[in-house]
Amino acid sequence: MMEQVRVSLPDGSEKTFPKGTPILTVAESIGPRLAREALAAKLDGRVVDLTSPLLADSRLVLLTPAQPEALEVYRHSTAHLLAQAVQELFPDAKVGMGPVTDEGFYYDFDKKEPFTPEDLERIEAKMREIVARDLPIRRREQPKAEALKYFGDHGEHLKTELIQEKGGDVVSCYQQGDWVDFCRGPHLPSTGRIKAFKLLSIAGAYWKGSEKNPMLQRIYGTAFFKEAELQAYLQRLEEAKRRDHRKLGPALGLFSVEETAGPGLIFWHPKGTQVRQIIEDFWKEEHRRRGYDLVTTPHIARDELWMRSGHFSFYRENMYTFEIEKEGYVLKPMNCPGHSLIYKSRLHSYRDLPIRLAELGTVYRYERSGVLHGMMRVRGFTQDDAHIFCTSEQAPGEVLAVVDLCLAMLRTFGYSDYQIELSVRDPEHPEKYAGDSAGWEMAERALVWALDQRSLSYRRMPGEAVFYGPKIDIKMLDALGRTWQGPTVQFDFNLPQRLDIHYLNSESRETPVVMIHRAVLGSLERFFGGLVEHYAGAFPFWLAPVQAAVLPITDRAHDFARSVRDRLVAVGIRAHLDERNEKIGAKIREAEIQKVPFMLIVGDKEASAGNVSVRVRSRGDRGIQEIDSLLAEMKELTLSRAMAP
Ligand SMILES: [Zn+2]
Ligand SMILES: [Zn+2]
Repeated sequence: MMEQVRVSLPDGSEKTFPKGTPILTVAESIGPRLAREALAAKLDGRVVDLTSPLLADSRLVLLTPAQPEALEVYRHSTAHLLAQAVQELFPDAKVGMGPVTDEGFYYDFDKKEPFTPEDLERIEAKMREIVARDLPIRRREQPKAEALKYFGDHGEHLKTELIQEKGGDVVSCYQQGDWVDFCRGPHLPSTGRIKAFKLLSIAGAYWKGSEKNPMLQRIYGTAFFKEAELQAYLQRLEEAKRRDHRKLGPALGLFSVEETAGPGLIFWHPKGTQVRQIIEDFWKEEHRRRGYDLVTTPHIARDELWMRSGHFSFYRENMYTFEIEKEGYVLKPMNCPGHSLIYKSRLHSYRDLPIRLAELGTVYRYERSGVLHGMMRVRGFTQDDAHIFCTSEQAPGEVLAVVDLCLAMLRTFGYSDYQIELSVRDPEHPEKYAGDSAGWEMAERALVWALDQRSLSYRRMPGEAVFYGPKIDIKMLDALGRTWQGPTVQFDFNLPQRLDIHYLNSESRETPVVMIHRAVLGSLERFFGGLVEHYAGAFPFWLAPVQAAVLPITDRAHDFARSVRDRLVAVGIRAHLDERNEKIGAKIREAEIQKVPFMLIVGDKEASAGNVSVRVRSRGDRGIQEIDSLLAEMKELTLSRAMAP
């Protein structure tokens, strides 16, 4: 009799099948609809092909589009589809790697002629053709030497390199039609299962990401189960492009990156600086109100300080070093050692604590040119940094106050949704971390307590803590639902030890201080870039670099227009008078493009009545308004830091 194996299903039922039965047959026995919808399967927690045979008793979950793992398999199969299409159209193109990404997939090709946008259209058409062929996708396992010969015979030098590196004695390949890829899988049962996909862009990419290797051509694409999902994604992508701070920043006169000065360095223009100043003023006011002392520290310091702090041993490759009078110096990559020196410059007793030192501290870090991105990844930026020196009894209250400060500030900027992560030690490897277990437990309790006090939900991430202490990271969701790195609160058991930062306890004994690093906005550059995209450049009234544009219709109205501008400026409103000899329509258009919240239009009628005709950004005409009532409204918008208009 044939050997039987038992399969337990998610609903708790069990079925038996002859050993070697393919999973697809199991799906068919459950129901034809499920068999049609299933894309792959999970066997004892491992994602496998539907064509895989059942070899032992196991737990089986059929993966339909409803399960998150299914999308990954689906997109990887679309990457294979792309590679097959490319090689059918361009037989001289050789294949590299083709993994799945967060939002889709890519495949790298070694090909002399660069791909053109027209090529992408042809490739997409070819992909559809291969989908229509509905080729079965088959896994085959073969001896390494055989696979090497196959890909060698086809001139696939990148694949043979990968097989040499990654392949065991037996390697797995996937075949659809006469196209074969060296791949771990799993894959869909056939190409006909692929429905909605789109090729998005072409970019250069070094083989295996190393500048030492040849440059390949990477084609990016994405795939969804349904056409409607794909269309929604493409729309979001368009919207993100429209909001891209790298485009809006220069267009709105906010900032630029100057090639002459070097990559990753931000030049804040007058309007950008205006917004930054408002953010900084707000930040300082909030910090003073909450018991912080503001400090200022030098941008360079002897390398000895960084050796003592330990940064020289674990952060060296990101630091700019140079010499002055034969002594080594470092351009500061972090503000922590500087704040520690201020703390240490005198003796502290427990009665002085907590001490909270805050600084908008500009730091410089070497980032590879390939990863630089607008204001998001830069080489020089200003951190809204602070360090809290306290006792372990004070720690929970301090963390709670930081959480409150973070949420209050983020809300003011219009971020109301967050994802919170609590990063703690890897319980398996306590030896990887600085400090003792008691300290780590105290710190984790303090972090959890603070989150619980505000009923904030969070994800606990074991093993994600940095070596010096546990932390909370708050990620903010923007108007497009994208997450941005935001506030962070971190304990540090390393620096107080290394720099001997202590206080005298009630028995006058030296006790190591509890040190907390925290940033609310993170980097001013990144936060600002994020704001530009969150608002699509239309800053709320209190932040707008130009709050009101005064637009005279005729020359005769100029004197009155000037007096309106002066009245606004006198009460602190940032007003601009458009005196150009242009039609009013052109002036309005320009103010709309510059995303000015209020447009005050004055013609003969307004000039003689002493009022203005108000137009609100992206909302249109509001009608005639008395200047006094407008000023009162603007004052209220400023004081309340409202999101309007
Ligand atoms: Zn693959
Ligand atoms: Zn720090």
